[in-house]
Amino acid sequence: MLKNKVAIVTGGTRGIGYEVVKTFLENGAKVALLGSKEESVNKALARLKAENGQYEVTGFYPDLADPEQVAQTFQNVKEAFGSLDILVNNAGISARESLYDYDPKAFESIMRLNVNAMFVCTQAAARIMKEQGGGVILNTSSMVSIYGQPSGVGYPASKFAVNGLTKSLARELGKDNIRVNAVAPGITATDMVAALPEEMIKPLIATIPLGRVGTPRDIANAFLFLASDMASYVTGEILSVDGAARA
Ligand code: NAD
Repeated sequence: MLKNKVAIVTGGTRGIGYEVVKTFLENGAKVALLGSKEESVNKALARLKAENGQYEVTGFYPDLADPEQVAQTFQNVKEAFGSLDILVNNAGISARESLYDYDPKAFESIMRLNVNAMFVCTQAAARIMKEQGGGVILNTSSMVSIYGQPSGVGYPASKFAVNGLTKSLARELGKDNIRVNAVAPGITATDMVAALPEEMIKPLIATIPLGRVGTPRDIANAFLFLASDMASYVTGEILSVDGAARA
């Protein structure tokens, strides 16, 4: 579905992002995965190469909120792989603090990664895509972008902003043949969720109509569809992939 396409996936070293990288590679794309540390990037690359030595995959670890580092990295990807067709803005952190204990610095740092970095990466990618004649930008939102959550307000606030960037930029960039969509996962069995004890998981599952948490592959398949030409007339959408949990 992505033969000869070139993708950049931020937060591609583990969890949902890693599965997106793998799914894109399996579907013929060349992929640059981005992570926060050299060590985790190298580990992810080694894991992928061990699975299939033919995968065309590379990795970088720029500061995603630094416009110069990001522009340089994206240019490097374009030079190495010949184009930049798909950007997946997936890197993100969450929050749980109550408002009363919330350190304003923690609020700033969640915004810096979940929102500012998404803006910076999108701007760098869109400049290249416009020149190339088009592209696809995909963002990782969350089911908490619909109703919020009972604590850690920085997280849903950042994901409401992700939806805002998605809907607004779809309108701004359509004329340049750039589609912009988001995937809003529900509770997904990444390492963090998989490590939770049975007694915490069971009541959560009871609230999900499909009766289970999502797998990283459930989420990656939605990204695959939106990245592919199958979604050629889809833009400005926030696609919920949450078993109808909706927070
Ligand atoms: P994860 O913690 O397993 O992976 C996070 C990724 O982001 C890693 O690759 C990490 O390197 C990268 N990252 C973290 N901090 C970074 C930084 N400062 N700079 C650059 N990269 C950084 O998380 P996940 O569960 O796979 O989440 C991925 C995305 O999915 C996030 O945007 C998250 O908000 C969203 N999401 C997750 C769930 C879930 O239940 N797991 C649900 C809804 C939305």
